[in-house]
Amino acid sequence: MDLFRGNIQSKLPQTGTSIFAVMTGLAKEHNAVNLSQGFPDFPISEELIDRVTYYMKSGYNQYAPMTGVAELRNAISQMFKLNHGADYHPDKEINITAGGTQALYAAIAAFIRKDDEVIIFEPAYDSYAPAVQLNGGIVKYAQLEFPGFRINWDELPRMFNHRTKMVIINTPHNPTGSVLDEEDMLRLERMLKGRDIVVLSDEVYEHLIFEDIQHQSVCRFPNLARKSLLVGSFGKTFHATGWKTGFVLAPDNLMREFRKAHQFIVFASNTPVQYAISDYITNPANYEYLGQFYQKKRDLFIEKIKSSRFNILPCYGTYFQLLDYSGISDENEMDFAVKLVKEHGIAAVPVSPFYHNKSDHKVLRFCFAKQQATIEKAGEILCRI
Ligand code: PMP
Repeated sequence: MDLFRGNIQSKLPQTGTSIFAVMTGLAKEHNAVNLSQGFPDFPISEELIDRVTYYMKSGYNQYAPMTGVAELRNAISQMFKLNHGADYHPDKEINITAGGTQALYAAIAAFIRKDDEVIIFEPAYDSYAPAVQLNGGIVKYAQLEFPGFRINWDELPRMFNHRTKMVIINTPHNPTGSVLDEEDMLRLERMLKGRDIVVLSDEVYEHLIFEDIQHQSVCRFPNLARKSLLVGSFGKTFHATGWKTGFVLAPDNLMREFRKAHQFIVFASNTPVQYAISDYITNPANYEYLGQFYQKKRDLFIEKIKSSRFNILPCYGTYFQLLDYSGISDENEMDFAVKLVKEHGIAAVPVSPFYHNKSDHKVLRFCFAKQQATIEKAGEILCRI
């Protein structure tokens, strides 16, 4: 065998198997209730499946345009007008992507060069930092304040220097369920005034927001929108994480650069799914119910565990609930999570892997995008611990 014998110098030396794969693997091995990875265990809309089938059978099976099919870009433009009063030109300012992760990667690849600095708030979704590092950038970590997971706005200006090129925000926030409010966005807008810093706004959970809270998209703040790339994911919105279809909205000067990277990373994404979603989102009723739908699941989960020894942290959006177990054990998060799977048959995700230095607050993340029976079973188990 002619093996590669050179010295492999990893571009991501710290990166191992993702915590989601580790916990899901363990959950399978121990036949545990799996609330670790963020994916729904209930069926998606029949109508949406029918639309995809229709387009596949009608011959829409070849490459989509690099920018995405026009019907979907038009429908997204109208959706953002309706929901936020925002104006994004369907041809110049909207691009369809192969999910949120690819959109984030292409945005980072388009704008970040060697030694550019990118500010990321921790705990952070795990794809941001490696994408920056693969492109030669340097990650600067700001800390969300425990236990509310709010941004410390006084800290941020101290992190800016001439190398700062990007700030990544995420609302509603994975893994904590916190959301940015209007004042947060106004502060960010004021802070970036006069600075050439791009905002990468991860809004994949835009519709999964509770208690009638208004999702504060960057697109609602004109001076912020002018320097922002907004990332969305239909996988999240329509319980179809396997479809990997998302989008980016950005003013045309930023979009032109985004497309230069995007076209060589993926070029185009799934054609029949794009057509199907363009029909489906034309009816706002198909997404407006989502906040209440997931709020009911959150409330059921909370109801089922309120007599447990876990402390329930506030959750305003996403489908993740953080539980503090410091009243039960002083083990670290990883050990406690493994113990839950092996000894109690329930899988959650420790939050420490969402920090570069593995900060440990003794909290685990539970995904409640599950059928009632799964949530009830999880509740029973958690109350016995
Ligand atoms: N951002 C966040 C915060 C996420 O939680 C996820 C999915 N886990 C993504 C982006 C990626 O979305 P997609 O599955 O569409 O790639």
